[in-house]
Amino acid sequence: MANDVTSLALVDRIERLANLTGPSGHEAPVRREIRAQVEPLADEVWEDALGNLYAVKRPRDGGCSGRPRKVMLAAHMDEIGVVVTHIDERGFLRFAAVGGVSPAVLLGQRVVFQDGTVGVVDAEHLEEIKDLKLERMFIDIGAPNAERAREKVSVGAMATYHRTAERLDGGRRLAGKAMDDRAGCGAVIEALARLERPCHEVTAVFTVQEEVGSRGARPAAFRVAPDVALAVDVTATGDTPKARTMAVSLGQGVAIKVKDRSVITHPGLRQLLVERARQHGIPYQMEVLDFGGTDAGPIHTSRDGVPSAVLSIPTRYVHTPGEVVDLGDAEATVRLLVQLLQDEIPL
Ligand SMILES: [Zn+2]
Repeated sequence: MANDVTSLALVDRIERLANLTGPSGHEAPVRREIRAQVEPLADEVWEDALGNLYAVKRPRDGGCSGRPRKVMLAAHMDEIGVVVTHIDERGFLRFAAVGGVSPAVLLGQRVVFQDGTVGVVDAEHLEEIKDLKLERMFIDIGAPNAERAREKVSVGAMATYHRTAERLDGGRRLAGKAMDDRAGCGAVIEALARLERPCHEVTAVFTVQEEVGSRGARPAAFRVAPDVALAVDVTATGDTPKARTMAVSLGQGVAIKVKDRSVITHPGLRQLLVERARQHGIPYQMEVLDFGGTDAGPIHTSRDGVPSAVLSIPTRYVHTPGEVVDLGDAEATVRLLVQLLQDEIPL
């Protein structure tokens, strides 16, 4: 039943989403797919002027103690990419970054524009690799001259890594170009699917433009005016050869964030997440990320302040075409979301 979007497995949701192209501000293909997946699961679905997609699931009677709260979940639809800045006389495209793109990672990659045009990334001849900068790199779309290049691509066109997701370790892990944050989007959709009797009014927001500074989440938080918020995003790991020291490992469970550069998560909400994880035997780890941020940044400082936390899916090689996630960690993320939302939130 490949086309029955209501019965997709978590791995299929993530894989389908990760293969779509949606650089910041150009999330339409991702939004279309998510809309198709959430429409059968939600009581109401709408989009706002910036392109954020909202799916609401209202509380059901029975079994809930405590006060129903307005809970906002946020997962971002956009991915990093590049934008064409000019086309030279021989048809090579010069470009700038959309979000955190590394020149060293881009070199030798293929990129795809939203119309399907594929290009190869290379650089001017350099004496030393440390001289590699985006300004010295170009994209070759195979056009023999500027005129032919312009028929295909215009200044302002955006491209992303051209790479299909692959299942690793017998399907227990996934490698792909946009696990950040399609893994989070997939986990939030799956949580909506499994949430049979929410105790709270849950608004899942699939946000735009996170990679350029969480620009979609701010108006979304204003619109939802939540009592409590949770961002679901990826985080780095410290478990690869000579990795930057970090106490998060792939396959060790959902990461409950303590802080990053955008937020210090609400201690009460964080503790509640830890308790729910323990109560239900859900593997978890604590995360301190000393770089980066998520949608929880603008959400927790919106209106008069929103107690916010972040559930992170540990991801190796973030912002490369080979971001690797462990499906057990994604599953733990879904289970913790469901347990949180099917019980009281005494904040
Ligand atoms: Zn992200």
